[in-house]
This record gives sequence, C-alpha cells and structure tokens, in this order.
Amino acid sequence: MGGREVTSWDGMHITVAGLGVSGVSAARALAGLGASVTVVDGGDSEALRERAASLEGTDVRLGDAETLPEGTELVVTSPGWKPTSPLFAAAAEAGVDVVGDVEIAWRLRGPDAAPWLAVTGTNGKTTTTQMLASILGAAGLRTVAVGNIGTPIIDIVLGDEQYDVLAVELSSYQLHWAPSLRAHSAAVLNLAPDHLDWHGSMEAYARDKGRIYEGNRVACVYNVADKATEDLVREADVEEGCRAIGFTLGTPGPSQLGVVEGILVDRAFVENRQKNAQELAEVSDVNPPAPHNIANALAAAALARAFGVPAKAVRDGLRAFRPDAHRIEHVADIDGVAYVDDSKATNTHAAEASLAAYESIVWIAGGLAKGATFDELVARSATRLRGVVLIGADRALIREALARHAPEVPVVDLDRTDTGAMLAAVREARALSRQGDTVLLAPACASMDMFVNYNKRGDAFADAVRELAAADG
Ligand code: ADP
Repeated sequence: MGGREVTSWDGMHITVAGLGVSGVSAARALAGLGASVTVVDGGDSEALRERAASLEGTDVRLGDAETLPEGTELVVTSPGWKPTSPLFAAAAEAGVDVVGDVEIAWRLRGPDAAPWLAVTGTNGKTTTTQMLASILGAAGLRTVAVGNIGTPIIDIVLGDEQYDVLAVELSSYQLHWAPSLRAHSAAVLNLAPDHLDWHGSMEAYARDKGRIYEGNRVACVYNVADKATEDLVREADVEEGCRAIGFTLGTPGPSQLGVVEGILVDRAFVENRQKNAQELAEVSDVNPPAPHNIANALAAAALARAFGVPAKAVRDGLRAFRPDAHRIEHVADIDGVAYVDDSKATNTHAAEASLAAYESIVWIAGGLAKGATFDELVARSATRLRGVVLIGADRALIREALARHAPEVPVVDLDRTDTGAMLAAVREARALSRQGDTVLLAPACASMDMFVNYNKRGDAFADAVRELAAADG
C-alpha cells in the first residue's frame, strides 16, 4: 500500500533549487527537520536577497543556478525548473536524486495521514480540485484544496490541522518530480499539447501526467471523450482491485458517470451498475453550466464517490462552489449583450472549451502564442463567431487562421500591445455585437506581452466593460 519511505532528514545535505514560494516552504520544513539546507537561485535581485535574509537556518547561494553545492545528497526542485537544467545534469553526474515539493510532502506525511485524491489535466485542474473540496466538505469531511493552489503542500502536511482527505491539484511539472506518490484515486481531465518546451515532447508530457495513476488504490478517473486519458489508465500500474471510471457528457455506460436529460448520474459507484444509476445533481447545479465545466463537475464527483461520499453531498458541494475569478466570469450585460471574462483561457484547448459554451460570440483573442497553432480552434469555432477583435504580440497567427477557416467573419486587428488596448478592444467588440451575443475574452494565449499575468488582463477587461456601462449611464 503505497510503500511509505522512512527518510532520516537529520544532518542530510539538501540543495533546494529555486527561492520561490515552494522553495522557501521546502527549505524551512527540511531545515526544521534537522537537514543541512542550501537554497540556490540564478537570480540576485534585491527582492531575492531580502527573501534569503528571512530564511533562518539555511544557506542561500544567489547568482548561480548551475553548480551543485559540495556534499549534496538530495536536490529538491521548484516545479518550474526544466529537466534539462545544468544543476540536474550535475546531480545526475554525482548520482544524486532530484525530486519536487510534492514528493517531499508525500514522504513527510505521517502514518495516519489523510489520503490524497489527485487531479491533473491540461485544463480545468484548479476548478475541479476546488469543486472536489467543496463536495468533500459538504459530506462533513475535513479537507482542503492544495497542490498547485493555495498553501504549499508541505506546509499542509506538516501543519497542526487534521484532515480526513486532501483534494490535490498536480501540474505535469509536479508529477514529473514526484516518483513515489501514490494517490487513493486520481483523475486526468484532458490532454492537449501545452508546456511542450518544458517536457520536450507530447509523449513525455503525457507520461508525466500519467504518473498520477501509478499505485492508485480505488479509482483511476478518465475522460471518455479524450482517449489519451484512457490510454494512460491502461498503462498505469495500480493496486489490485482499482477500477477505471470514465466520465462523459453523454449517457454513461457501466462504470461511468455522465449526463441524462439534464441530470448528472453515477453508474459506477452503485449496486448492480449494469441496471442501476444514481442521480447526483442537476446540470443547473454546476456553476457555470458550460459543457467543459460539467465535465469538471463529473470528474470531481467521480473522485468524491470513489472516496464514499453520498450523492446528496455531490449536489450540495456543487451548489456551494464558486469558481475563481477570470474563469468564465460574467462581468456585465450592456444592451442585451453579455460580457464574459475567461482570461484564464491561456491556451487553445481552453479557449475552444470556452467558445463552445456560447452560440453567438464576439471573440477577443491574442497575446503570446507559446508556439501554438490556431487552425483547429478557429475551424471548430467559426460558426459561432459574430466577429473577432485581436490584440497582442502574436495576433497575426490568429488572423491568418481566421482568413483560412472563417473568411466571412469580420476581424478588427488592433495592432496594439499597450495596456490601454483593452478598452479599445472592448469598444470594438461592442460595435460588432448584436443583442443576444456574448463578448468573450478567451485569448488562447498567455498574457505577458501586455500584462503582468492573466489576472491583470481579466481585470483590464472588466474595468473596460464597466467604463462602457457607466458611460451609458
Ligand atoms: P487549470 O488549473 O488547469 O489551469 P482552471 O480550472 O484554472 O484550469 O481553468 C482554466 C481555463 O481552462 C478556464 O478558464 C477555461 O477556459 C478552461 N477549462 C476549464 N475546464 C476545462 C476543461 N475541462 N476542458 C477544457 N478547458 C477547460
């Protein structure tokens, strides 16, 4: 059962790579257990020096991210560091293991620690993990959404608070560095090309995502509409008796959760699943009830049901759930047109899900493409587009895809990357829209060409919409 490794940390020489949030958390925790910790970071800014000064009991080496400190016995890396980083080559040369903060948290958990229900996927991780935590909470279980969100996972595992179960979001990076993690049950929501520069190839990316199923005890949850996720279940080495559970927006087969006439139903965790199904919730209980989000709700429900949660808690938990900001967030209605902020749609797979949720759309898109191509996205969404407004550095890529696959759709190319461009974009979108349309910010791109992050991009959109609404008086 998930072979608990007992590691003696006392006196161990550990190098922590990266002085970010997870690096600081790891360094504090390991130093607290008696390890001799050196944190290394390639940067050497004022902010880093201040952070270094606040870290008591550890050595910090700034300005050199490449050489392995003498005597290192284990490297603990921050998730963002590429596997090809010279420090890791040096570690391999010296026969030293490299692991991440999730691996450390897993090794540090106590003998009676809460089991982990784990979630990964290209898109929908945070939403699904938070839905899961909400459902578990509605069942009266002590839980928290953790991992790629909120408090660093090491701090949760070592903290005083007792939990019955953890809802754990894991990125592909974190999975890459967590070789001995064994979840109670896990879900891969979907698999589309993303972060390939980090992983090196789609195969390597899928392999890292698939690690989440290794050693699962009760259920491996996959997406029926995304065969790659099912393939990963098949390849995984799981505990005897662990089941493959599918989720689908269609009618579920046995061992699946799905949707029948507006009702989310479970045909997996019921007596006699050949004949029976259990009603869990209504589609309208999911907030917002966009198709991809119903898929997220089904995945969360599957993990909760695998943990033995009653049907009523699924409904109550979904009803209580509120999505984080900038994820299909309704900002305002102006002249019968809805303005929706999905700034978090930072890749084409996410933007496609977002565009599929509305019938007639004025689409605001563009930013940093990160090597993506837009032909599929545009071809699949063309019939829903009333018009398009393009912003950002790589907008020409989207414009060319539109010319190829949706030549009749009007396009306004703003040719701007300044922050103020968002107000102009919203104005143009308004001019293109008609009553009943949705103006949708779903950029399909990263934001860093124009904004600090996707939050700021979404805020700029919302501010612009409110300014227009106010000007109408
Ligand atoms: P992550 O944590 O994986 O980045 P989020 O829950 O924050 O995912 O959602 C990010 C964006 O991905 C959303 O704003 C939405 O555009 C899109 N999205 C959410 N769930 C899905 C899904 N199941 N399939 C495709 N796209 C999705």
